[in-house]
Amino acid sequence: MELKQKLAVLADAAKYDASCASSGAAPRNSLGSQGVGSTEGMGICHSYAPDGRCISLLKVLLTNFCLYDCLYCVNRVSSNVPRARFSVDEVVQLTLDFYRRNYIEGLFLSSGIIRSADYTMEQVTEVARVLREEHDFRGYIHLKTIPDASPELLARAGRYADRLSINLELPTVEGLQALAPEKDASGIRRSMARLRLLIDGARDESRPTAPRAAAGLPPKPSAAPPFARSQSTQIIVGADPADDRTILQTSGAMYASYGLRRVYYSAFSPIPDAARTLPLQAPPLEREHRLYQADWLMRFYGFEADEIAGAPGGMLDLDVDPKLAWALRHRERFPVDVNRAPRELLLRVPGLGVKAVERILASRRSRRLRTDDLARMRVPAAKVLPFVVLADHRPGRALEASSLAARLRPPPRQASLFDTAPP
Ligand code: SF4
Repeated sequence: MELKQKLAVLADAAKYDASCASSGAAPRNSLGSQGVGSTEGMGICHSYAPDGRCISLLKVLLTNFCLYDCLYCVNRVSSNVPRARFSVDEVVQLTLDFYRRNYIEGLFLSSGIIRSADYTMEQVTEVARVLREEHDFRGYIHLKTIPDASPELLARAGRYADRLSINLELPTVEGLQALAPEKDASGIRRSMARLRLLIDGARDESRPTAPRAAAGLPPKPSAAPPFARSQSTQIIVGADPADDRTILQTSGAMYASYGLRRVYYSAFSPIPDAARTLPLQAPPLEREHRLYQADWLMRFYGFEADEIAGAPGGMLDLDVDPKLAWALRHRERFPVDVNRAPRELLLRVPGLGVKAVERILASRRSRRLRTDDLARMRVPAAKVLPFVVLADHRPGRALEASSLAARLRPPPRQASLFDTAPP
């Protein structure tokens, strides 16, 4: 099979994996050296997820042959799809060619499992090794690790990658047993724990040495990071019956236990010749979007999973964002006095983001804030005012009004012929 055909097959097969992004890469560039590439602090963008999101890596599988039979996966052994396999050199060459043409800023490499977990992991790692050691590649590398691979191989992969990810795939152990019986949920978690130790250890070691630190300088950039800076995972949403509360509880536990940089939520995409146990339809993409918003609330706003998805049924409201939905369920906690409330309470006000809260805290040191001040900070007044007290504003009965929820819901919109899910 020609390289171009392989690329078509293996890039297409990789599109179901949402778990890649470049934020958090160590700053490196090849200025003044013979190396190739650089990492920017910006997210990478160029590859397309099934829902159309732009993700800018050469995102490809080493092979879509696989020994396993995970029911939700288009590459499972029983799937009737065209198969292909790259050699290590082919992936290296493609990455360098695409990089030099400015198509990509890095590589996201995953693989089906061939021969054994260790053999596959060795091949994936070898691509990264050749790029770093033989071509001095300084772009971004994200490797998908095979959870059953030996700890030594995981540690080796981390020496060349900016990020490692291990897909959890399904939010519960029962879900994984039902849909991916060959995968071992406790083995996946064990690998995540190992990676956390390695990442934390490398972070301590890479602190600036005394003379550089004294001069306010970061550690010297090199082609390869001392160890991957972070790990992430992916959860498939809607392939099993787990509700949003369960999904968020799982994510919350993983952030706390394994220091994950990100959990990616990937709406299940129906696949050809799917098993009967799988749903026939994808969940609404809005559900994935609400989960990302809820995840954000857990990481930056101090919310717990149980509070966010606290409505009966354990599902997030698709009509309004999770913070507004929480505030509408907890009106007894409002109004919040913008001039006196601590940061944690301000962060719970619908419409106030982290930056707006920082501006409020800075501004109120010198004066009492009024409605005009919020307008100048460009916060959405209609959303914020029912929940706050200002020097010239009290929400009065607006907060108790039964019509409040209806007023704050976005207006209904006409469905389009091209909508994939009901609005
Ligand atoms: S191991 Fe990975 S590639 Fe293989 S069937 Fe399962 S999810 Fe798909």
